Amino acid sequence: MFWTRELIARNAPVRRRAAPPPGEPPHLGRGVAAYLGLAIGDALGATVEFMTPNEIRQRHGVHDQITGGGWLRLKAGRVTDDTTMSLALGDAILATGGVEATAAARAFDDWMRAKPVDIGNTVRRNLVAFRQTGNPQAPASEHDAGNGAAMRVLPVALACYGQPEKTCIFANRAQAHVTHHNVLSDAACETLIFMVQDLLAGRDPIDVERRRAEKLASQHPVFAYDKKRCENPSGYVVDTLKAVLQSFFATESFEDCLVDVVNRGGDADTTGAIAGMLAGARYGLEGIPRRWLAALEDSTRQACERQAKNLLLQAGMQPQASPTPA
Ligand code: MN
Ligand code: MN
Repeated sequence: MFWTRELIARNAPVRRRAAPPPGEPPHLGRGVAAYLGLAIGDALGATVEFMTPNEIRQRHGVHDQITGGGWLRLKAGRVTDDTTMSLALGDAILATGGVEATAAARAFDDWMRAKPVDIGNTVRRNLVAFRQTGNPQAPASEHDAGNGAAMRVLPVALACYGQPEKTCIFANRAQAHVTHHNVLSDAACETLIFMVQDLLAGRDPIDVERRRAEKLASQHPVFAYDKKRCENPSGYVVDTLKAVLQSFFATESFEDCLVDVVNRGGDADTTGAIAGMLAGARYGLEGIPRRWLAALEDSTRQACERQAKNLLLQAGMQPQASPTPA
């Protein structure tokens, strides 16, 4: 038998998952799963980023293994900006004790200096501007409607878990506007944050769809996602969200959701990351295929687990706290 990378990944031993300690609230496990889902979707999707569904079919059949490669020539299990910017933001939130615009901008700037494997154009342009002006808020722009802020909302959703919606919106805009000061980006970010929080709280996905996703589409009809299957989604936040929402609500497992969304190609690491975050929050740790968890780079897995717990613990310790105003 040939021991291909795939077989090795499938047969790799996986630590037995401990049952949650007695008294650990269920949202903690789902929060960890959301963070692992973000990283797994990023690592899985990066292999087929910028490919069309046809190209993926020809090269991989169905792409469902974390193998690395892709245009970034990643090592298997490596993640990209979607996960590493989220981790940078989460660290800043933990250090500051809230979501603060300048702290977020500095964290992103440090992240850029460390030469990440990939970086979006809007992110780069507005971080360079921050370096020059010290102003952590990019000018409002109709054009900056990329998915670069939406892909890194998870630490905000966790840090603000249990807080009023207004607080979550305010906190998100502090981090999002560092690079993406745009109405559609804001609407997408806020919808994702509320969806994650609803799912962590154990809400029924049908209810989450009605309360959050359908509301987004009714307020901003460009986001209507139920008509035509969105394939080859671009980095435009509207395309990204449409593909993610279609996959997320049309599937019934973590694995089916991620396989469906990344095989649509396009900005597949980012659709994978966002879908993985939602699916992790919905299905919890038990829903994550072991071969994917085992394939994820160890240091990334540990950082995601640690940060998810610490952000939720911080949120739990500050029931009345609101993020520091910018
Ligand atoms: Mn990426
Ligand atoms: Mn991407």
